[in-house]
Amino acid sequence: MFQFSCPDVGNQPQIKRICRLCNSSNVIIHQRYRKTVRDSVLSEVEIIRLRCKSCKYSFRIYPEGVGDWAQRTKRLIFLGIILYSAGLSYEKCEGFLSGMLGRRLSSFVTIWRDVQTIGERLRRSKLSQVRAAKVVVGLDGTYVRVRGREQPVLVATNSTDGTLVTVSLNNEWQERQLRQFVQEVAKELGLRNIAGIVTDDLDTYKLVSTRFKLTHQVCLGHVKKNLGKRLAKLKSRIPKPYIERLRSILDPPSASGDLLLKDLLRDDKLWRRGKYNKHWVSYRMIIGDLLRNWHNYTAYLRNPRDSLPTTNNVTERAIGRSKIRYKLTRGFKSQEAVLNFFFLTQYTGMHQFEKIASVC
Ligand SMILES: [Zn+2]
Repeated sequence: MFQFSCPDVGNQPQIKRICRLCNSSNVIIHQRYRKTVRDSVLSEVEIIRLRCKSCKYSFRIYPEGVGDWAQRTKRLIFLGIILYSAGLSYEKCEGFLSGMLGRRLSSFVTIWRDVQTIGERLRRSKLSQVRAAKVVVGLDGTYVRVRGREQPVLVATNSTDGTLVTVSLNNEWQERQLRQFVQEVAKELGLRNIAGIVTDDLDTYKLVSTRFKLTHQVCLGHVKKNLGKRLAKLKSRIPKPYIERLRSILDPPSASGDLLLKDLLRDDKLWRRGKYNKHWVSYRMIIGDLLRNWHNYTAYLRNPRDSLPTTNNVTERAIGRSKIRYKLTRGFKSQEAVLNFFFLTQYTGMHQFEKIASVC
């Protein structure tokens, strides 16, 4: 169910008569006064000054949702964040809020700053909720533009529910960078809590999973698509039963599919020589590639207890949630802003509003 949880704002502070300095309960109300705030409901709140009779320390207490020195309430900050995530530009967020409240609120730069601050707080507070159980992590890469230049981004999700594990500015084509990313993921979850990874068919992912000794399922969606493309090129030269045989071995793959592939290699037809038989070389290469990666295609069959998914769709959808909002931006000014953006749009995209409200 869709639940929208917005930060609460009170108009009076809750009085706790305990001294912040000496912990004494000999505390009296020293002063009550009203303060103007910018909020979607209230225009004024009460603030109380308490004074400790034991140590003479005096301090202010604020209502819920009102920050120490802030003019704006947490609810208003939250509102701006949600409007931005929904697709409004910084200027339009500001214009909309001012229109709703009937007075000018703040400049659009304030909303920009909020988006950065909240994104950063989400980055810092990201996990802790998933550490308890083992997680199959989906990894995938994408690109955005920073100051007109292409910036690779890697996203890791919990492949069960699509919630974010982490985002980094690494390139999936570079083994060293991918290794760094997996280390970041391991730092978040603990290496022992990673039940396995799911990725597309890139070789760099295989190098990294071998290095960290991680169970690795390659997305069968990608594998079948690539196989289809390679077979389509051979269609006019290789007899149909041979094409179909390869296709059926992978759809769906069986744990003993590699034996079927090896069987296929025993067929003399595949080894004919001469310049009119070059297509058989390509055919054998396809079989070779399938054999080489067979353990990655069938990891889910060999590790049934880890419940590895057979596709990386969950992570692709997660990236889609950020990319759909990205299409409405004019690119980024800094790498830092890219990370903040991805964290924010992942949490709003998954409707984790409570989490966002908690860091406003
Ligand atoms: Zn005191």
